[in-house]
Amino acid sequence: MPELPEVETIVRDLQSRLVGRVIQSVAVVLPKVVAAPAASQFCRLLQGREITHLRRRGKYILMDLAGDWTLVFHLRLTGQLVYSATAEPFPKHTHLVFYLDQGVLRFTDLRQFGRVRLVPSREIDQVPGLRELGVEPLGPEFNEKEFCRRLKASRRMIKPLLLDQAFLAGLGNIYTDEALHRAGIHPERPAATLKAQEARALYRSIREVLREGIDFRGTSVQHYLDGAGQPGRFQEILRVYRRQGLPCPACGTAVARIRCGGRGTYYCPSCQPRR
Ligand SMILES: [Zn+2]
Repeated sequence: MPELPEVETIVRDLQSRLVGRVIQSVAVVLPKVVAAPAASQFCRLLQGREITHLRRRGKYILMDLAGDWTLVFHLRLTGQLVYSATAEPFPKHTHLVFYLDQGVLRFTDLRQFGRVRLVPSREIDQVPGLRELGVEPLGPEFNEKEFCRRLKASRRMIKPLLLDQAFLAGLGNIYTDEALHRAGIHPERPAATLKAQEARALYRSIREVLREGIDFRGTSVQHYLDGAGQPGRFQEILRVYRRQGLPCPACGTAVARIRCGGRGTYYCPSCQPRR
């Protein structure tokens, strides 16, 4: 699933290509990907609207349109939002096509879990999913002291807590495993047992892996492509994620895989002891 760095990369790519473009028409190939309103109304409301701005919140892409409407995209597992300058033959699994005054924007999704919703911009905060989101880990409101206090107050294991979008917006399986490795913390540690020094290390490593993820334009281990249809490069420097049995780059111990909170989880048994 695209996480914060992948979604941020897509938003930046599309920002430069889409702002100022006008949606001339929309083709809904698979109606269920439009969460609201009904497909016919969705198309009618979008026709003739200029795209004014793109932004990200958690793993959501927000596309602001003239007249105070916003398109909210959630790519979920395998969704892709790709701009192309020409109306080239569409790839398989194209569910939605936005025909612009210059070029086209396609929404494709192999697994069909991704959704788009058109909402009045002032109602963004009420959209299910967006409504519950916690702080942005790269934003100014993500504060080290407050983070440490909330870890202490939690009764949950650290990895599922970090994956909870209401706790922190934008982390998924890849960057959580990488952040915990860099901080030397076992994914099953109860959050409240982290020492102050460990909590601070985790705070720093979360921001570090997310920033590097953006610098490397995201991780392409499965389906992720950027806004221009190109893969990212963060998979080249992954330390534990999907590296089961391979040597930990820090100490040489074989990376292990466990289930943690129902998710496949990768960690180094030496660098991240259970204690
Ligand atoms: Zn190690």
